[in-house]
Amino acid sequence: MMERRLDQTQAGVRPFALDYEGFRDAMVARLGLDRYASAELYSMVIRTGSVDLAALTRLPDRDGLAEAIRGTLVFPEPELVTVKEAEGVVKFTARLHDGHEVESVVLPMMNHYTLCVSSQVGCKRGCVFCTTAKMGFVRDLTPVEIIDQLYLARHRLNYPIQNIVFMGMGEPLDNFDAVADAVAIMSDQRGFDIPLRRITVSTVGSVEGIETLAGSDISGVNLAVSINGATNEVRSSLMPVNRKTPLERLVKTLARFPFARKGALFAEYIVIEGVNDSLEDAEALVAILSPLSVRYNLIGFNAGPGAPFPSTCQGAVERFRDLLIARGAYVRIRASKGRDLVAGCGQLGKKHVPSQ
Ligand code: SF4
Repeated sequence: MMERRLDQTQAGVRPFALDYEGFRDAMVARLGLDRYASAELYSMVIRTGSVDLAALTRLPDRDGLAEAIRGTLVFPEPELVTVKEAEGVVKFTARLHDGHEVESVVLPMMNHYTLCVSSQVGCKRGCVFCTTAKMGFVRDLTPVEIIDQLYLARHRLNYPIQNIVFMGMGEPLDNFDAVADAVAIMSDQRGFDIPLRRITVSTVGSVEGIETLAGSDISGVNLAVSINGATNEVRSSLMPVNRKTPLERLVKTLARFPFARKGALFAEYIVIEGVNDSLEDAEALVAILSPLSVRYNLIGFNAGPGAPFPSTCQGAVERFRDLLIARGAYVRIRASKGRDLVAGCGQLGKKHVPSQ
């Protein structure tokens, strides 16, 4: 992993593409800095997004060092294409080097900001309620392109992001290596310092991906699994993944992995009126997920242009929540902020894809 990171920095050292060890190795090799000076420099650059050498105390007093550092460090230059705000929710679009665009969303929470990041351009999973699915799969994002979204939110838009959710465009576990590299950089205490327990990876329910995640260095993240149907019939009609991996197999896989700690596993459920919100659905859902220590997150369907269902009213979501609570489930309704921006759940996805 480290070799690949260093390869990316041959023209200069990109701090935002590196965890501390990668940055330190580059600083030692290029500038002869020791680890104390490297750590101080790394923390300052990642946390402020700039280089203020006068604020550093551990740099050696060496002629030409300041110029050498400034000449070596390369900052991200993702092009911020649009920034839109509604109800406190901010959706921004970045253009990648090849002309593709990815969307990210800053969500104001009670006492912090959460950033919803994308992991792919498009997605191959084809969930029928999802705008991104309409693009098909275009390509995976690199670790740097994932981190650049955090850089833009923190240092260009100035939001003090403290939580990350991989719920933007793409299925994160289909691009696992890049997501794992990005999470390692985000969680490095000497840099962004966002602990794994504040990072949530959302999956369509890929059992291969879940197994990979469970055996990886980032298994301490939260895992949010899109359920959306309490029976295989309903779930398969909404999510093609269920035809290959029925609910029973998904639950069996999840039950093998405690996901490090209690409270780290979430069942995501988009409530669609007349499709998956009946009393029978509530009973079947609690029964099928009963082997798991899981919290439920409900959200009403947000109908964008050409959507297959009408938007779900809040009353229907609350009714379904009450049915679940009556059966002993721990349930939260996720506010569907950003509807006006088409930035609610399942609604990210640029229509513009450049010609190849
Ligand atoms: S909901 Fe997620 S996994 Fe399904 S098509 Fe959309 S981006 Fe892909």
